[in-house]
Amino acid sequence: MATLPSAGLHDGRHTVRSLTGYNWGVTILKGPALRARRHRIEWARHLVQAGFLLTVLLIGWEFARWVHGLETGRVVGARPPGVEGFLPIAALLGLRHLFVTGEVHPVHPAGLVILVLVLLVGFVAKKAFCSWVCPVGTLSEVLAGLSRRLFGRSLALPRVLDLPLRSLKYVLLAFFVYVVFFQMGPAAVADFLDSPYNRVADVKMLYFFERLSPFALKVLLGLVGLSVVVPYFWCRYLCPYGALLGALSVFSPLKVTRHAPSCIDCGLCTKACPSSLPVARLSRVSSDECFGCLSCVAACPVTRALRVETPWRQAVRPAAFALLVVGFFVGGTLLARATGHWRNAITDQEYAHRIRTIDSPAYAHDKGRVPTRAEWEAAEAAARE
Ligand code: SF4
Ligand code: SF4
Repeated sequence: MATLPSAGLHDGRHTVRSLTGYNWGVTILKGPALRARRHRIEWARHLVQAGFLLTVLLIGWEFARWVHGLETGRVVGARPPGVEGFLPIAALLGLRHLFVTGEVHPVHPAGLVILVLVLLVGFVAKKAFCSWVCPVGTLSEVLAGLSRRLFGRSLALPRVLDLPLRSLKYVLLAFFVYVVFFQMGPAAVADFLDSPYNRVADVKMLYFFERLSPFALKVLLGLVGLSVVVPYFWCRYLCPYGALLGALSVFSPLKVTRHAPSCIDCGLCTKACPSSLPVARLSRVSSDECFGCLSCVAACPVTRALRVETPWRQAVRPAAFALLVVGFFVGGTLLARATGHWRNAITDQEYAHRIRTIDSPAYAHDKGRVPTRAEWEAAEAAARE
């Protein structure tokens, strides 16, 4: 690996030192120039994260307002379909239904659209969904920053614990995939999608958060605490979505690529990586743990030493990468709206009726056991009497 004379990086100048004398056509950034480039890339990502977080908060607020209006017999605003992004199990069942029947199930179609968009982003741009879009990823990043401030360094579990724990999320993913794609038959999937429970799964989810049980509160607080002591605890060890994206990301054509002849072995990329990947030793980052956050690219002082590239060595600029991720979600959502696959087919009147009877056995969910059609039809009939 080529290394530079130390004067190249430590000559005390603040801006740029051209290396064309070495015929590499690269530039080493230093001081304000390096900071400006780093801030440009990081702030672009933070801006996108803030935009999606704000959108999610607005969706949550609008949905809660609408549900509480229906509780009192009034229609306040409109139900935002984006709320279905919080129903990943229903979306996974919707995906199975789509594979089997070729049709988008009319209950929670937006959840399915969001799942497909997440998978597409994972397929094209590594786990960029986690570091650019996902509100839980954003919260994890905030907690990781808090951890650095509290402890003065980035904490990480020893490798002997880290490796087996990382497989936990794949075990959880395997469980869901097994149940949805192998244990349940097509009829059972359709039964669940049509069931009263699924029709108001969004309302149930809202009530879950509004009426947190002491146990659920302890679990959530425990996860927050763990994410401070072990940064990205949820994302790295437990999130099945992250596992799914990690598996898909192996095929991503866009990967962070290091050019050894230009690299000066400063190790800044490795230090910047939130996934503790040894970027400075890799030629192409293929790991399933790569978030596509571009922190390594932002930290690299040598232009063109580290960048996102296609397998054909075409560079993708950070701005284009960001546009791609945002474009997938905005474009995909608009397309779903235009083709009538965004809003569900449940009327406000039906929601109002179901919300009034939501505590009846028709809406019960027995520890993950899916009620059969006969069971929920009998429970609905009983609720009507
Ligand atoms: S390798 Fe780079 S893009 Fe991937 S997680 Fe690490 S810092 Fe982010
Ligand atoms: S940040 Fe990484 S890729 Fe860039 S010069 Fe330093 S070691 Fe090489």
